[in-house]
Amino acid sequence: MQLQGKRCWVVGLARSGCAAGGLLRRHGASVLGLDDSDTATLHKRWEREEVAATAASCFDEVLDGGRAPQGAWATPDLVVISPGVPGTHPRLAALPQGAPVIGELELGARFCRAVPVAITGTNGKSTTTELVAHLVRAAGRRGEALGNVGRPLCLVAEELEPDDVAVVEVSSFQLESVDTFRPRVGAVLNLAPDHLDRYPDLAAYYAAKQRLAGLVPADGLFVTWTRCPEAMAWPTKAARLWYGDEAGGAGVFFRDGVLWAGRDAESAAPVLPESELAQRSPTNRLNALAAVAMGLGLDLPPAAMAEGLRTFAGLADRHELVAVRGGVRFVNDTKATNVHAVCAGLADHHGQVVLIAGGSGKGEDYAPLREVMGSVRHVVLIGAEGPAIGRALAGAVPLSEAADMDQAVALAARLAEPDATVLLSPACASFDMFANYKARGAAFAAAALKAGGRRP
Ligand code: ADP
Repeated sequence: MQLQGKRCWVVGLARSGCAAGGLLRRHGASVLGLDDSDTATLHKRWEREEVAATAASCFDEVLDGGRAPQGAWATPDLVVISPGVPGTHPRLAALPQGAPVIGELELGARFCRAVPVAITGTNGKSTTTELVAHLVRAAGRRGEALGNVGRPLCLVAEELEPDDVAVVEVSSFQLESVDTFRPRVGAVLNLAPDHLDRYPDLAAYYAAKQRLAGLVPADGLFVTWTRCPEAMAWPTKAARLWYGDEAGGAGVFFRDGVLWAGRDAESAAPVLPESELAQRSPTNRLNALAAVAMGLGLDLPPAAMAEGLRTFAGLADRHELVAVRGGVRFVNDTKATNVHAVCAGLADHHGQVVLIAGGSGKGEDYAPLREVMGSVRHVVLIGAEGPAIGRALAGAVPLSEAADMDQAVALAARLAEPDATVLLSPACASFDMFANYKARGAAFAAAALKAGGRRP
């Protein structure tokens, strides 16, 4: 791609926008950064995302506050949009006809020689992206976890070598703004209602995810879960590999406490005992299957993958053990911001759970939570959606309400039997009570210590 002397816009100036601007300028383009936020908000964001020191050097000029480009800037040769910017953004609608618009991922992909892997789905993307990169490194190759995990592809694209692997977490938005991006392995982990505040309906959200199946080339591998019938049916030129239930056609599955892997059940071979997985929560076991399936598509040796699964540290804020008090475990799953993540975490939970749930809503139906209350002894409700979740669970499980996180954790700790888990798994966003999900997780961990817990 020839960028020398080109006039480019970057729309959306967070971490990805800055990385895109930097790449464009390194290749001789002039770059105008555009953002709807005012100057103060933008600079605060740059500080929070740790790009304040470099952001200014990524652009020739910045127009914040949603101001419109004037003069020569009004007719760009190329427009690059950040992952958070929808293709329907008004600034794009006003572009002169024919101006090419691509996503930051597409720009990075055009300059990346490494083997690309793309991971999407409703839940588990970040964890699985990090895990696949970890398995690649366990096999002695350079593996980079990129994209929505917080490291834009444009940041490292040019320095990667052909034997390296760029494991990219992609959102549905990003899939709408790629063109030549061809992941060698593409995985859809699961599909469940989410982001209904951003898509007109569920079909539109799923259709955006479906693009991934079409991007994987004929010599690539398309991976999905046997309990994701929609994705199993999507047309693709690539070979397909399912993980999950052996009876459902999976090549990667658990049988008798052992993880087996192959292109299909007949050719599957044992990889490692389930008990040796470093991360063994229900969702992490599933993500291990997904990652091994992707590893097969990258020809990673099974022994190296086994070693990677034994040593994977997991991610903070996802089923993270933050405190113990006697036999009671305090587990922080603050990243469970939708019903599906909560259900997946509870579905085959061993032992008793006191659940803390609630927060700000995204238009979801909480009724499916009733189905997974088997191990739950009590639910402590917090936040704006507490009452709605309470209505959905009425009669299924004992309920209490708490005014804040300290109160919720103290109550949950009193209710927990000696070998129970106090689990924060909110099914909601956090913005009613906290700056973000991380702050909510930190408040939970602090409250667990106040309630007599000690760090594990
Ligand atoms: P994402 O990047 O898709 O948001 P994360 O890895 O950050 O995914 O995890 C988000 C939430 O989903 C956490 O609550 C986590 O425990 C849960 N989760 C992780 N993997 C899965 C899975 N395979 N299915 C359902 N929920 C999952």
